[in-house]
Amino acid sequence: MLRNVFSPIRIGKVEIPNRLVVPAMVMNYCNQDGTASERYTAYHEAKARGGWGLIITEDYAVDPKGKGFPNIPGLWNDSQIESHSRFTKRIHDIGSKIFAQIYHAGRQTARVLIGCQPVAPSPIPCPRLQEIPHELTMDEIHEIVEEFGDCALRARKAGFDGIEIHGAHGYLIAQFMSPYSNKRIDEYGGNLLNWMRFPLEIVSNIRLKIGSDFPVIFRISGDELVPGGRNIEDTKAIAAMLEEARVDALHISAGVYASGYAITPPAAISHGWITDYAEEVKKVVDIPVITVGRINDPLLAETIIAGKKADLVAMGRASLADPELPKKAAAGKFEDINRCIGCLQGCTGMITQYQPATCLVNPTLGKEEELRIKPADVKKKVFIAGAGPAGMEAAMVAAKRGHEVHVFEKADRLGGQLYTASIPPCKGEIAGFIVWQKKRLEDNNVSIHLNTELTEGIVNEQKPDVVVVATGSTPVSLNVPGMKRENVVTAHDVLEGKANVGKRVVVIGGGMVGSETASHLANHGKEVTIVEMLPEVATDVNARVRYFLLKDLAENNVKMYVNCTVKEVLSDGLTIKREGREEKIGPFDTVILAVGVEPCNDLRLKLDGKVGTLITIGDALSARKALEAIKEGYMAGLEI
Ligand code: SF4
Repeated sequence: MLRNVFSPIRIGKVEIPNRLVVPAMVMNYCNQDGTASERYTAYHEAKARGGWGLIITEDYAVDPKGKGFPNIPGLWNDSQIESHSRFTKRIHDIGSKIFAQIYHAGRQTARVLIGCQPVAPSPIPCPRLQEIPHELTMDEIHEIVEEFGDCALRARKAGFDGIEIHGAHGYLIAQFMSPYSNKRIDEYGGNLLNWMRFPLEIVSNIRLKIGSDFPVIFRISGDELVPGGRNIEDTKAIAAMLEEARVDALHISAGVYASGYAITPPAAISHGWITDYAEEVKKVVDIPVITVGRINDPLLAETIIAGKKADLVAMGRASLADPELPKKAAAGKFEDINRCIGCLQGCTGMITQYQPATCLVNPTLGKEEELRIKPADVKKKVFIAGAGPAGMEAAMVAAKRGHEVHVFEKADRLGGQLYTASIPPCKGEIAGFIVWQKKRLEDNNVSIHLNTELTEGIVNEQKPDVVVVATGSTPVSLNVPGMKRENVVTAHDVLEGKANVGKRVVVIGGGMVGSETASHLANHGKEVTIVEMLPEVATDVNARVRYFLLKDLAENNVKMYVNCTVKEVLSDGLTIKREGREEKIGPFDTVILAVGVEPCNDLRLKLDGKVGTLITIGDALSARKALEAIKEGYMAGLEI
């Protein structure tokens, strides 16, 4: 089925055994001095064991003043070579090819990170970071060109199989290549040839220092997706110039920081959404072209290559979700692949706060060795109350360690609130994770008892050694008159298809659940209003996910009352209070509550002190996001 994916290809002189690529992704796992940490190495070893054709590391800074994140690698001086030599040796010992991406962040960094003013071709701040950069002088430009060449040489000395020059995503090279950020009126600005002078000088300097036989990939945004930025026709012209300059492959991405949704697209963006850019570039060059962009399934990669849209397919977050994706795909074990769901909670959500990357569906990411599953010393009988994401994860890990595991779920299906979360638009892939967890339970002989609530009586009778309480949470109500009216329902009941909803709907609570429920209903032809006490809605949603959610609400004419509190539910509307005055809004056929949840901890209170080991995880402990729940489930499985 994957004939194209599993065929070799050459980048320069290096043969890449298959077409699946791990692209550069900031993980923040390195030491602050840019040397390779054990965490950084173990993370890449997992990828190498997983069978990826090519691993491209995250960005090696060519200069400490060009760092965009605190814990990225660097090769800006010779003393850093040794740790990265040890790193490449360990990757090569597994048999994988590894390229170093090299970069300078330019204006897309912050003084707090680099201790000085960021630099750029022109003194225009990045719209997202808002720091006015220093306009580079001629001498400074020439110095940075040399730094790129020196960094590439150090990468070669450190044992990398090649390098990738990061000319995408609005970093320094991209800043020079675009009239969006380059307003210079000297020989580095004003027209295409001048915009290309800086990147071409870098390529030339690198070739001078590393020779002609060391593979060089150039990464570029096919379209910057900002007003006045480069588009794909500009990029095609640039691609031809880069090929002429003896670049060995091109890697076509999209966006700059101001269009950050394009760099790490959330689930609202469709799979392979920018493969057309790679296809366009392929028309004008003969060197291999790599595509990227929310491609999370090897079957998609196969059709992209078969359709000649690209020669290699980079699957970044897919590789975070499942580092063994290629190995499983090669063995035809598609059901075993843990797919990225595009939530951005763990990866982008963490690194934009300068924290190490994590993954919602893969709690071992970045802790591959520390959280390795090992057989338990003593086999125990484990009862798990609740088959939500936390309970299922705990069950899977405990069963893999050799325990006898029983999961009790009072509903007639698995997934808990993660199932509910999969209902709104663009969230459907969450169901895939539930299916994946379910298969892991079956593969590891976990006994699943649906329509069965774990009670104190069952525990007393069957005497498990360990009880894990993963009973989740339940929606809370509002203490205002009218809440008992027949037309008042919860968002959870609506999403789960348990409550009928009229044409005119009001959702009380504009957090993630309320806003997504509003989006769901608006997309089903309802006239929707949100009432929220904060000044804005969906403030608890990842910024890139939120961008599309708000867009959807606006396009569907969802009406919003913010800075409001609900005083009473009436037979045909609501009384709300805003700016100190009460007013009636409506009419509404249905009133939907989305004002939060509280832990279901009855069982925990009943069993406290009555079982050998009692562990509470997920929302049953404290209502939070799935990221925390799944991680706690995994840790509970290891603890037993
Ligand atoms: Fe994908 Fe979410 Fe994991 Fe990021 S955190 S890799 S978006 S599943």
